[in-house]
Amino acid sequence: MCGIVTYLGKQQALPLLLEGLKRLEYRGYDSAGIAVMDGQPVRLMKSVGKISELEARIDPVKFNGTAGIAHTRWATHGKPNEANAHPHFSCDRKLFLVHNGIIENYLPLRRELEAAGHKFVSETDTEVLVHLVEANKKSGLDLTAAVQHALRRVVGTFGIAVLDQDEPGVIVVAKRGSPLIIGIGNDEILAASDVSAFVRLTKQVVYLNDNDVATLRRGDYSIVSIEGPAEVEREVETVDISAEALEKRGFKHFMLKEIHQQPDTVVNAVRGRLLPEEGVSRLGGIEPVLERLKSARRLSIVSCGTSFYAGQYGRYVFEALTNLETDVALASEFRYRSVRFDEKSVVLALSQSGETADTLAAIREAKRKGALVLGIVNVVGSSIAREAGAGVFMHAGPEIGVASTKCFTSQSIIMVLMALLLGRYQNLTFNEGLRILRAIEEMPKHIQDMLDRQEQMLEIARKYHKAKNFLFIGRKYNYPIALEGALKLKEISYVHAEGYAAGEMKHGPIALIDESFPTMAVVPQDETYDKMISNIQEIKARNGKVIAVASEGDREIRKVVDDVFYIPRTLDLITPLLAVIPLQLFAYYTADLHGREIDKPRNLAKSVTVE
Ligand code: GLU
Repeated sequence: MCGIVTYLGKQQALPLLLEGLKRLEYRGYDSAGIAVMDGQPVRLMKSVGKISELEARIDPVKFNGTAGIAHTRWATHGKPNEANAHPHFSCDRKLFLVHNGIIENYLPLRRELEAAGHKFVSETDTEVLVHLVEANKKSGLDLTAAVQHALRRVVGTFGIAVLDQDEPGVIVVAKRGSPLIIGIGNDEILAASDVSAFVRLTKQVVYLNDNDVATLRRGDYSIVSIEGPAEVEREVETVDISAEALEKRGFKHFMLKEIHQQPDTVVNAVRGRLLPEEGVSRLGGIEPVLERLKSARRLSIVSCGTSFYAGQYGRYVFEALTNLETDVALASEFRYRSVRFDEKSVVLALSQSGETADTLAAIREAKRKGALVLGIVNVVGSSIAREAGAGVFMHAGPEIGVASTKCFTSQSIIMVLMALLLGRYQNLTFNEGLRILRAIEEMPKHIQDMLDRQEQMLEIARKYHKAKNFLFIGRKYNYPIALEGALKLKEISYVHAEGYAAGEMKHGPIALIDESFPTMAVVPQDETYDKMISNIQEIKARNGKVIAVASEGDREIRKVVDDVFYIPRTLDLITPLLAVIPLQLFAYYTADLHGREIDKPRNLAKSVTVE
């Protein structure tokens, strides 16, 4: 959720920490802070708002130093104000700590520490950590041991970094449930919640496991567990992200760049995975569990947000192509249900970041109960990637815009490949398989064709952007697309939108319709077309305005609706993955016309690492 970045080395820490924070800003951005040290007293600055506001308040001359920790916050406990911003500090102002996550038992701990004389200055859950470490240091422990002892008392999730004026050559970091990655440079060492924060400096990384406590020194580090004194070994890995992938490259927003990357990200999602000569797909990541998958009876797709809508699309696909009974669950609700698992159950987790706390909790529960857990994630090395029994990477490159676009299409297409692979061992014929592969191969060209006509969507957005409410409707494969279109609009433009199965409309939402309440109808010429037209007529009969996303060449639709955006013709099953593109553009342009902060919408964060 929030972002942590730390630096210890030979260069000035301040500019590197600020650069890292800017890279992480998409993770949470209501306030930020930095502490820098160089033997002298630690210097601290915190600020509400963006990283640029923090930067403007810092005098770089005063903040010279080659060690530091920094944080961008997504508030869970206490308002986004300066006192609640991190780093938090001990009573003697020698210890400084940043935290990502939630300390669930902070209230009893706070009461206990206050009774022992500790003074608290914030409303956060985090602040107990720094006072616990302080108490342990006072009893004679070094920083690493003091952190270990403190974390043993904590219930909840954390990624933390601690700076101690008494141990100037050291930064201690630890994690449980929130990501934290060490970057190893030349005589310098970094740590961050996401490698994008330091990838310009080093690509050599160590992914910490839960309950690891790492002591960082210039050019050196050691790791112990929260529980024990014994050192643990973690592999050094090389990450494959270029610094250029983190730039906007001429686009006004990352979101627009990412919408435009989709012809490429679709290619990356399927590269080496299509076998037209056999009418099937190949997914190396799930080969080791293929036998178990083939004998599975039930599939539960778990995910949140946009991935949940991708999951709903996936359900139609798995049901159409395989014999699996499929359901889709919101990860945050999964644990409250009494789903029965056995060795014939498969759980498929969808997550861009691979760190979504709700999804992670759901797969841990499923594993405990004996289900086979698969993941479709974008970030290599992420928690879900490591904890799922097997899975497939999206290879979409970093997705920075908070509103997911390219990862929606990537994860959807990978589900098609999975269902195809399995279906071919069941009832799906060679020709049916081949038709799907051909349609997938044509997707990049079709998406490019729509992007080349994006101005048409801008015109439509100009006409409708002042509306305060929108309805999005679709049927079958395109019902989840209607839901996703409504979510995109809400997320980035703050315009109220409801996604509905078109057939449900007359059971309630049609009461809302009048001339000021437009409808976006996803109405390709597939088996649902006639019924969709009837639903559109029902809206028109009540003076509602209708924008249609329709199949190329469908002239009749013009007579029924107010505006049309045409999408190329393809297989019914693949159509929604084209139909979603104009809806992404519509949300983007509407938000831009409203002057919204598109890449960082209020109250939202990219990778939701708290439950
Ligand atoms: N729970 C902490 C707070 O509210 C950390 C939130 C975060 O992860 O940014 O300050």
